[in-house]
Amino acid sequence: MGIYEELGIRTLINAHSTITRIGGSIMPPEVISAMAAAANCFVDIHELQRRVGERLAQLTHNEAAYVTSGAAGGLTLATAACVAGTDPAAIRQLPDLTGLKNEVIIHRSHRNGYDHPVRGVGVKLVEIGYMMGTFPWELEHAITPQTAAVLWFQGPMTGHGDLPLKTVIEIASAHQVPVIVDASAQLPPTENFWRFTEMGASLVIFSGGKDLHGPQSSGLIVGRKDLIEAVRANGSPNHALGRPMKVSKEEIIGLLTAVQLYLEIDQEGRKARDEETVARWRQALNRIPGVQAERSFPNEAGQPLPRMAVQLDAARLGKTRDQVVDLLATGEPAIIVALAGADGIFVNPMTLSPGEDQIVLDRLLETLQAA
Ligand SMILES: *Cc1c(COP(=O)(O)O)cnc(C)c1O
Repeated sequence: MGIYEELGIRTLINAHSTITRIGGSIMPPEVISAMAAAANCFVDIHELQRRVGERLAQLTHNEAAYVTSGAAGGLTLATAACVAGTDPAAIRQLPDLTGLKNEVIIHRSHRNGYDHPVRGVGVKLVEIGYMMGTFPWELEHAITPQTAAVLWFQGPMTGHGDLPLKTVIEIASAHQVPVIVDASAQLPPTENFWRFTEMGASLVIFSGGKDLHGPQSSGLIVGRKDLIEAVRANGSPNHALGRPMKVSKEEIIGLLTAVQLYLEIDQEGRKARDEETVARWRQALNRIPGVQAERSFPNEAGQPLPRMAVQLDAARLGKTRDQVVDLLATGEPAIIVALAGADGIFVNPMTLSPGEDQIVLDRLLETLQAA
């Protein structure tokens, strides 16, 4: 902690989620020591990516895999791969799309800030559907010779009038159009490593710095061998669009280690611990007049883990929700929680280190009971 103190920066307790703006997740010691060991020598990065990719493919039951600079970097590389393939002239030409496929299809209801890394390749997003529903013919109609890929966001955007992913894959595959699935925050469950590719998705992208607990700026793409070769060709250290999305030898090794560890996690046991924490928190908080604490499931990313939703009655508490959030964030220790609607907060055990569940409860009680 000395390192942050010296800079005059307060450390935070993360009761929010694996959000990037406060650091995502904490790497376990095994990942840190693997990264430290990787830092000691030079290696051929092409060879390292290839060998680690083979391991990751095996571990995640996929044809091929590649380590990226976060899931966002993965989205850019996956798109570049679908547009330029392994053609050196096309790769050099990007993001100029003259003569290349220049459209990516997306459900209108899936539009979100993470489609920017896709648009970064220069492609136009072609939107289909409404929140109220989407017809298969809309996807059929949107597919043209200019279509590079169909982009699918798995998570909170899913299920609002979109076609089932299965249908999207069927239609796209019939036209030889790849389907890119952004599954960045879709671990757990562990089976998601292979679930989407088994369904027929072409490339599936995960964040390394969220629940995988790998290096914060790492990511993982799994999927079709030919497309992973194209991802590789468009990625660093090659002089290509992906060159600014460099992944270091330490991060490559760190991500591999994180995936190995992840496959061994007892997800049921972990969920049970989080359930116990949420139950204990609720019981304590519901004794305070003006506070109503409930279990909320699944969490904001759709992961099968519980968190606590707390409704705050400002009149009875004598402070508003925003004041409570502020007191938690500026108190000692500082605690970051998520907003729930207009007058509630979410408190999430998922990102807490051992022992922090009690600190969070004590601070919540203190903050909510203070006059
Ligand atoms: C977090 C997230 C990303 C970005 O992941 P990084 O690893 O931080 O780059 C992309 N898409 C979705 C849906 C996400 O939730």
